[in-house]
Amino acid sequence: MTKNRNKKTTGVYVHIPFCVRKCNYCDFLSFAGDEAVKERYVDMVCSEIEAYCRDRSITADTVFIGGGTPSVLKPKLIERLMDAVRTGFSLTGDCEMTIEANPGTVDGEKAEVFKSSGINRISLGVQSMDDDLLRRLGRIHSRKDFLKTYELLRNKGFDNINTDLMFSLPGQNFEKWKNTLEETADLKPEHISFYSLIIEEGTPFYEEWKKGSLEEISDDDDRKMYHFASEMLNEKGYVHYEISNAALPGRESKHNLKYWSMEEYAGFGLGAHSFVEGVRYENTRDMEEYLKLYAKAPDLWKERYNVINRNTVKDNAEEFVFTGLRKLEGIYKDDFAKLVGNDIYDIYSKEINKMVNEGLLKDHGSRIALTKKGIDISNYVMREFIKDKWKL
Ligand code: SF4
Repeated sequence: MTKNRNKKTTGVYVHIPFCVRKCNYCDFLSFAGDEAVKERYVDMVCSEIEAYCRDRSITADTVFIGGGTPSVLKPKLIERLMDAVRTGFSLTGDCEMTIEANPGTVDGEKAEVFKSSGINRISLGVQSMDDDLLRRLGRIHSRKDFLKTYELLRNKGFDNINTDLMFSLPGQNFEKWKNTLEETADLKPEHISFYSLIIEEGTPFYEEWKKGSLEEISDDDDRKMYHFASEMLNEKGYVHYEISNAALPGRESKHNLKYWSMEEYAGFGLGAHSFVEGVRYENTRDMEEYLKLYAKAPDLWKERYNVINRNTVKDNAEEFVFTGLRKLEGIYKDDFAKLVGNDIYDIYSKEINKMVNEGLLKDHGSRIALTKKGIDISNYVMREFIKDKWKL
């Protein structure tokens, strides 16, 4: 699956920060918003896209409308947004166009609009098939809502659906996780993401955890749930291709693979990140500022963006390794040499040899990948590659 790094295409990310209400574990840039704000926001995102694309031709092969919950937008706003994307960018014939949706926020009309706007992939925030757990998470939907939404999307002809699932949830035991996973996999979505809950500061779960009232899952149980998911999904024909993602063959997320392969993407909307020509940008996270600035002078879009980093060769080497190792096929030595200008062993021989000896990495000849043991402590492995030990 090695990538052609010379290919001149970009990914497009659009952030829609609105949700019906905040989930108990969520620290994403998302909040409830009234219809007038949503409308104004979409208008501003459209002008941002228009200004970015003006007088140049940019080819995009993936579009990802993420959030938040983009599916809370009214159909006419989704149409407006997708019109701006299609007008601004030249989209490849096989462009993967994803929208994130929560069960219960899509009806027949919206599904039609997704289709007519060119959206061909839906990412559904399912999280669990257990209604008690869904309530505990503060989700707005039930298991039944998910099944209804899934059936509706299939009936409307969507043949590329992702389901996001979570494990290590307070109050979740192995049986509950097994049931959620089996029931979801039996529906045969093309893609399944499975994330372990992380308790983030500033969330209601964090407050409970501080008080000692959150029912925590042990590390052993967390790993048991994770390995079960990997093995079960393999048995059902899925390819576990990234630490937290599995797909039916050929249905890996093209957009997310860009993040893990250091390819370019342009982000629009509140707090959106971009990686363009070796520079990482972040858009303002302040809604008021965002709405004001883009209304005044959208042409000055570059000034709204904070430059997070102009990647040096050293940044490229580190990022290539720690994002690339998330892919279970690992990183290709040739790709590293092309990007960095050195053989990976010239830079990281000590780290690689140490971790190969510890059984955390394996050198497969043309590529280097995490072992099963390495996946379990991947944060430790990746940290080894960002130590300030070498200079280029
Ligand atoms: S729906 Fe998603 S983005 Fe919105 S609050 Fe819940 S977890 Fe956060």
